[in-house]
Amino acid sequence: MKYQLKLAHLYGDLLNTYGDIGNILVLQYYAKQMDTDIDVKVVSLEQDFKKDAFDLAFFGGGQDFEQAIVSKDIQRMKNELTAFIEDDGPILAICGGYQLLGHYYIGAHGEKIEGIHALDHYTKSQDHNRFIGDITIKNEEFNETYHGFENHNGMTFLGKGERPLGTVISGHGNNGQDQTEGAIYKNVWCSYFHGPILARNGLLAKRILLAALKRKYPQADFSKQEALIIKPTY
Ligand code: GLN
Repeated sequence: MKYQLKLAHLYGDLLNTYGDIGNILVLQYYAKQMDTDIDVKVVSLEQDFKKDAFDLAFFGGGQDFEQAIVSKDIQRMKNELTAFIEDDGPILAICGGYQLLGHYYIGAHGEKIEGIHALDHYTKSQDHNRFIGDITIKNEEFNETYHGFENHNGMTFLGKGERPLGTVISGHGNNGQDQTEGAIYKNVWCSYFHGPILARNGLLAKRILLAALKRKYPQADFSKQEALIIKPTY
């Protein structure tokens, strides 16, 4: 293969709700079409994330229990992860991972689960309720519609510099109130979609790969790879 990307699977052994790991398989599937090899390394408890050692990261979702364990451990990596994000490092973060990139998540029992404060959102809990079911959103910027399945207690509110991944057409989204779903900040894509998100939304997978390739190989001609992102007709 012509290009190589190193992917960090953050806490892949603890956060993997509804097969979020499938997102990595989808990235590898499209990477092949883009003449790219992806080397995956799980970065978990007591291991290190070094910003220059990776080109891409994936952070899945989880239950409050696992999230609380990750919340304590990940503070060690806070500076490197934040530097990676500020340096336009691409990350896909789902549900629990999304919550942990922000300021905090108040768990279902009122416990505060600290995030790394890299992104400016925060997440509250709802009383005796979860947002569960199919969800469809529209991203106006790319004129793309994304489909998924959500199951979360958290209600996330976006902050400075963040724009939603899409506007809710049906389902609940970030908080059930403002019609936003997910977040985009620099090259970080966040969402509550499980299922896994990229299996049903291949265009998004290709966008993430392209961002990673362009960042790693700024001189290369990626017109062939760009041509793979075909605008949907709807
Ligand atoms: N524990 C979090 C919540 O309920 C995240 C859930 C998830 O990742 N599926 O909001």
